[in-house]
Amino acid sequence: MSRTRTSDVLVIGGGIIGLVTAWRAAQRGFATAVVDPEPGGGAAQVAAGMLAAVTELHYGEQTLLGLNLASARRYPDFAAELTELTGHDLGYRRCGTLAVALDADDRAHLRELHALQQQSGLESQWLSGRECRRLEPMLAPGVRGGLRVDGDHQIDPRRLAGALVAACEREGVVFHRAWAERLTVVADRAAGVVTADGTGLGAGQVVLAGGSLSGRLAGVPEDVLPPVRPVKGQVVRLTMPRRHGPFLSRTVRAVVRGSHVYLVPRESGELVIGATSEELGWDTTVTAGGVYELLRDAHELVPGITELPLTETRAGLRPGSPDNAPLLGPTGLEGLLLATGHYRNGVLLTPVTGDSMAHVLATGELPEEARPFTPKRFSTATALTEQPA
Ligand SMILES: Cc1cc2nc3c(=O)[nH]c(=O)nc-3n(C[C@H](O)[C@H](O)[C@H](O)COP(=O)(O)OP(=O)(O)OC[C@H]3O[C@@H](n4cnc5c(N)ncnc54)[C@H](O)[C@@H]3O)c2cc1C
Repeated sequence: MSRTRTSDVLVIGGGIIGLVTAWRAAQRGFATAVVDPEPGGGAAQVAAGMLAAVTELHYGEQTLLGLNLASARRYPDFAAELTELTGHDLGYRRCGTLAVALDADDRAHLRELHALQQQSGLESQWLSGRECRRLEPMLAPGVRGGLRVDGDHQIDPRRLAGALVAACEREGVVFHRAWAERLTVVADRAAGVVTADGTGLGAGQVVLAGGSLSGRLAGVPEDVLPPVRPVKGQVVRLTMPRRHGPFLSRTVRAVVRGSHVYLVPRESGELVIGATSEELGWDTTVTAGGVYELLRDAHELVPGITELPLTETRAGLRPGSPDNAPLLGPTGLEGLLLATGHYRNGVLLTPVTGDSMAHVLATGELPEEARPFTPKRFSTATALTEQPA
């Protein structure tokens, strides 16, 4: 191993989650470093950037809803702070979302979602098909009704990632553009990593934020490795005309033949259509079938998309966890913390993750709102001791 360079906090992974952790840690005065061959890359280069706490609500995920809402509430200040600091426009757009139904089954499903939202104290409004089309004239005549959610917004995740890199640089975060090959453990404590070229990076605390690769770092004890898996998502990007008013003025989404499809219109004129959900390991091939299904389903919602230029197709990997919620905070190995498993809400959860990780790095304790997301909920030892007698 060559020379060792040390920091207070070393973050493995420079996706949006690692970057926000590093930025907030550096703001607290920690000497902070990030190790990643390509900081600012990762799933954010593909993600749609919906900030959809309300429309993404699922049965059994009410605990996650609390964290999602806590992060959504932070977004206006978070985005303003990042833009002021870096000068980057994040494409943050408080445009709202319309979830629509194309047939009777979809409508029943949306009605259930509406009921669940109301039970959870969330704001959403049921609209007839005609009311939906009045809001979004490009919608297909077959739309049978929908849910208007004015509180679910969007941001451009590529811009967010770029701004977070700039914010880290301003705050003095050191970037090691390398692959972390192995965690170093000294006297039962995480002490840093060894990079692919054999350089040792030492640290007081190590945060593993490797997205879908978080469960694969060598040197991490078996019972501490996060149970994170890659969930592939393919996305298509089109360009909207600027001529006669907006093509779409808010995010439109639906479940078509059992698959989720959404159209996210950015102020820049980009229209993001996503996303497939495939359990195929670390494969990021864009397939004809994936693109076909996205365009077919999106076309049922908004027939006019077939006229638009197709600008990009891409696939990325969501870091999925067993309960679809993130793993935040200390592990069973002293000095090793996790910030991973954000699955389909990593963009939404960026602000609250940064605050929670900075808090736990400084105090050793997760803040109240993040406590249910301790990685220890998956450790066998904890599960056994928490069994009722
Ligand atoms: C198609 C798609 C659509 C999505 N849409 C949305 C959405 O609308 N709203 C939303 O909130 N979320 C969305 N997401 C989810 C969101 O993008 C992710 O949850 C989030 O980007 C995860 O960020 P991350 O930093 O944890 O991981 P990643 O982005 O995967 O970043 C991990 C980083 O760690 C690095 N790394 C890993 N291992 C090592 C190592 N050993 N050494 C050095 N570096 C390492 C990698 O190079 C990478 O840069 C979507 C995701 C996809 C794929």
